[in-house]
Amino acid sequence: MSAEQRRSDTAYEVVIGLEVHAQLRTRTKMFCGCSTAFGAAPNSQTCPVCQGMPGTLPVINRRAVEFGIKTALAIDCTVNADNRFARKHYYYPDMPKNYQISQYEEPLAEHGYLDIEVAGETRRIGIQRLHLEEDVGKLVHEGSSLETALSSQVDFNRAGVPLMEIVSKPDLRTPDEAASYLKALRAIVVYLDVCDGNMEEGSLRCDANISLRRPGAKE
Ligand SMILES: [Zn+2]
Repeated sequence: MSAEQRRSDTAYEVVIGLEVHAQLRTRTKMFCGCSTAFGAAPNSQTCPVCQGMPGTLPVINRRAVEFGIKTALAIDCTVNADNRFARKHYYYPDMPKNYQISQYEEPLAEHGYLDIEVAGETRRIGIQRLHLEEDVGKLVHEGSSLETALSSQVDFNRAGVPLMEIVSKPDLRTPDEAASYLKALRAIVVYLDVCDGNMEEGSLRCDANISLRRPGAKE
């Protein structure tokens, strides 16, 4: 069955956009010199900068910017010579600063595409933007039965690790296309050696935005 047939077989059309977070393979964090090695003892890879202590100065990781540009060129994005970091304020217990340094109005790169193949057909999926930001820490929840007290502990080793976020346009129409897009994107970042692609360690994560509409509808 072709992708076209599959799409017309249902009463609704699925519209999917994907946000992919790729952890960059830098030795140190996005704005400080702390190690990014996976699996170290909890809270052994932190410093006043990634803990957001008053008076500290974040300094950008040059390698992370290079990795972002490399990926941007591989997916035909325009790299913005002028791009800007901003503080995104929100509260989350595994984020020591209560804000994340990210890019919003002027991302590192935008307007690219990725060609994917599904059931023998090639589909061009637009890439809206690629920007850099920092990761949050990890919460470890313990205790599962009534006899054990529930507790949550926080490990800040991952807080401040460089992330690259790649946002697709809402061009995907089937789960098969979404899977194919993710596989193609993973192959690119692994080939470029900018991300190890280890999904079991959370190095590559995906948020899906899914909408349904009647075929032919604009919204
Ligand atoms: Zn640090």
